[in-house]
Amino acid sequence: MLQRMQKNRGTMIDIVQECRGAALIGIAGHVNPDGDCVGSVMALWQFLKKVFPKVQIDAMIEQPPAIFDFVCGVSEIVTDYSAEKTYDVMIVADTVPDRCGEAIKYIDTAKKVINIDHHISNRGGCDVDHIVPGASSAAEVVYELIAQKEEYKKLIDKELAQTLYIGIIHDSGVMQYSNTSPKTLRIVAELISYGFDFPKLIDETFYEKTEVQSKLLGKALMDAYTLFDGRVMISMTDLKTLREYGADKKDLSGIVNQLRIVKGVDVAVYIYEVGEQSYKISMRSCSDDIDVSKVSAHFGGGGHVRAAGCNIDGTYEEVVNSLMEQLALQMEDDR
Ligand code: 5GP
Ligand code: MN
Repeated sequence: MLQRMQKNRGTMIDIVQECRGAALIGIAGHVNPDGDCVGSVMALWQFLKKVFPKVQIDAMIEQPPAIFDFVCGVSEIVTDYSAEKTYDVMIVADTVPDRCGEAIKYIDTAKKVINIDHHISNRGGCDVDHIVPGASSAAEVVYELIAQKEEYKKLIDKELAQTLYIGIIHDSGVMQYSNTSPKTLRIVAELISYGFDFPKLIDETFYEKTEVQSKLLGKALMDAYTLFDGRVMISMTDLKTLREYGADKKDLSGIVNQLRIVKGVDVAVYIYEVGEQSYKISMRSCSDDIDVSKVSAHFGGGGHVRAAGCNIDGTYEEVVNSLMEQLALQMEDDR
């Protein structure tokens, strides 16, 4: 990667000024894009296209789950990374460059990399870092970048408001998780004034599940077991089950949240197999005193105090054992 200058960590930036003069801009987000990744990346894409109509701006994330197909710009996402080109600006939203999948190729060679995020685990290191750990979502951070100046804010239309809203509801559990602040709610109040059908949007992108997704959830709950006197609940879905149901990893989102709301559970751990002796871990903690981002960071992952994830290789038993060792350290701290 080019030597990065690093400036502005945490302080407000002017995203328009940072992109001024660029002829080619890319916007990347994390692999397995979720609602906030889609919301923050596509909101930046929509906004920057309005500000710089003549500039080529590429949204570069993996194809999101079909529930987000209606979001403006999703049909134009660039998924072919074969072209050799140098981006003047690459924006990385809702994650760190290393978690951007194939787009890392363009991030590594970009003339300028701007990181916009809200993950406490993000230590920065790009040319411009704008990381706001107190924000509910990357979409909330993007809203503030746009709303800071009246001339930018007036570019928000119904479509852009809806896109930002999707990011916020998905990362805040529809304004319920502890990352929801009074500011989040004020922003959401502003956004719904643009008049999109928010109850429908919440149902169709957040709560609704297909029959297969519901059955996989049901199976995961049936298979779940507890450790640490019921304080930790674990479940796992293997590739064989996914094949049996004709499903893929996109059909598993939300399962960890159902484990989290079981009475007496302090930490939910949901594991799915991604390959031979290779597992993806999602963790949720019910208390600020049990920091699952520290557990995932130990395995090279990241996230927030109450929601984090990582990948671990090994047999299932090895994975659970090493995870529980790390989790025990966090839970001891809690005593
Ligand atoms: P989820 O469990 O919903 O996949 O992720 C929870 C949180 O942890 C999200 O903020 C997500 O971005 C972060 N996260 C999940 N997996 C990883 C990972 O492998 N690496 C990093 N850095 N963050 C992760
Ligand atoms: Mn996020």
